[in-house]
Amino acid sequence: MSRRSGPGSAGAPLGGRPPPPRDAEPRGGGPRPAGEGGPRGKRAGFDVAVIGAGAAGMMAAAVAGQRGLRVVLIDHAERLAEKIRISGGGRCNFTNIGTTPAQFISRNPHFCRSALSAYGPRDFLELVERHGIRWHEKHRGQLFCDDSSERIIDMLRAECDDARVAWRMPCSVHTVERAEGGFRLSTSDGGIEARHLILATGGMAIPQLGATDFALRIARQFGLRVVEPRPALVPLVFDAAQWAPFAELSGVALEVVLSNVPGAGGGGEAAAQGRPGGRGAGRKGAAPAAAFLEDLLFTHRGLSGPAILQISSYWNPGEAIEIDLAPGKDIAAELLAAKPGSRQQLATVLAGLWPRRLADQWLAQEQGDMASARLADVADRRVRALAERIHRWRLTPSGTAGYRKAEVMRGGVDTDELDQRSMQARRVEGLYFVGEAVDVTGWLGGYNFQWAWASAVACARALAQ
Ligand SMILES: Cc1cc2nc3c(=O)[nH]c(=O)nc-3n(C[C@H](O)[C@H](O)[C@H](O)COP(=O)(O)OP(=O)(O)OC[C@H]3O[C@@H](n4cnc5c(N)ncnc54)[C@H](O)[C@@H]3O)c2cc1C
Repeated sequence: MSRRSGPGSAGAPLGGRPPPPRDAEPRGGGPRPAGEGGPRGKRAGFDVAVIGAGAAGMMAAAVAGQRGLRVVLIDHAERLAEKIRISGGGRCNFTNIGTTPAQFISRNPHFCRSALSAYGPRDFLELVERHGIRWHEKHRGQLFCDDSSERIIDMLRAECDDARVAWRMPCSVHTVERAEGGFRLSTSDGGIEARHLILATGGMAIPQLGATDFALRIARQFGLRVVEPRPALVPLVFDAAQWAPFAELSGVALEVVLSNVPGAGGGGEAAAQGRPGGRGAGRKGAAPAAAFLEDLLFTHRGLSGPAILQISSYWNPGEAIEIDLAPGKDIAAELLAAKPGSRQQLATVLAGLWPRRLADQWLAQEQGDMASARLADVADRRVRALAERIHRWRLTPSGTAGYRKAEVMRGGVDTDELDQRSMQARRVEGLYFVGEAVDVTGWLGGYNFQWAWASAVACARALAQ
């Protein structure tokens, strides 16, 4: 684990306070370009209107504004950037230092390549350090704030202020129309006109925090295709009767290899795009689309924890998943080796290899009296069959816990509709989509924020050219 901090603080913390006032005066003063901002109800002309002041929206607004464009940033929320605030358990896993295109799911896995290479994790880290934000690396390249995700919100807010971004928040956008030379928005704050429009309203995860499908609706309004959205990075749930024997295991956690089984009853389109992700991938001949070595958590309704969240992004309704509950071990070999002359119960020996509660409950499900059998009395073939079930536990979730529990939305604006260097809609000049609204979904571990930053920067730089 590394621990670093950057030089000094870049200003007083603003995050957590109410959102900035409309037309907040930019830091640094200076005259406002004619036509910018203006009181409620008046038309206002901007170079760029950004809808959605989350991760991607603030980044895009800041970069475009710092390059001399007149930018207005619009959000319907009462509080600024709620998803950043709650992310990473309140510490914001703001990037992953090992980011490559392989950690993203999309109909076109190459789409994200250009933006990620033009603005990578080290570029964002440089910004974080410039603002004096202390950070640390957790496992597998995940970078978190030392104290609070509010620091990231403060930083983006300060960057927007430096860029003299005008704010409309809280402000609802009623309609979006083509206007001469750009777009006309009708909002709760009056009309807004802009030459370019960036949709940065994110995905539908956590609607209780104001998440909407606004970007997808606008995409459809302009005739752009949308890849069917679904909850992702989300717990999987099971039929209550099927799950009843395991409900008692609620709270048990262990490291597993979890893979999806594409085509086992489901559509499999997104899964077919997936890449083998962890140890154990491909171990059954026909390679599973993805496999992750991560922690698994049993809950009352089903399974959760990082392993399930990761595989949920590949899972399609009706498909099975397969779990190696003892990765790196050979349960059959270990039990058979312990067998000769053993006076111990099978349950006791198994508990030496596995969590005790899991061993007891698992054996209680087995046919015959395995729970109380002495290991020496269990036939070798039964030991092997038991081990096979432990290493290849196959089960079919009945669904996901839905958008209310999901961390992200999978799917979104079809990447075929967008230019990968600018995020501009190929068929609608001046219309851009960035962040989670685009059909690019990252794994758990800081990748989704990295996509938000990178897609926003690509868009803003292209706009300023
Ligand atoms: C609990 C949780 C934890 C997470 N932790 C992490 C993490 O640690 N690391 C990581 O990489 N990712 C994490 N994510 C995912 C990450 O938060 C998102 O992928 C990221 O915020 C997407 O950025 P965005 O700018 O596209 O959308 P958002 O950040 O969601 O911003 C969208 C903005 O648009 C606004 N908006 C929505 N609809 C409208 C509308 N109709 N009109 C006006 N404004 C609108 C919203 O109010 C919001 O401010 C987490 C997500 C959740 C839910």
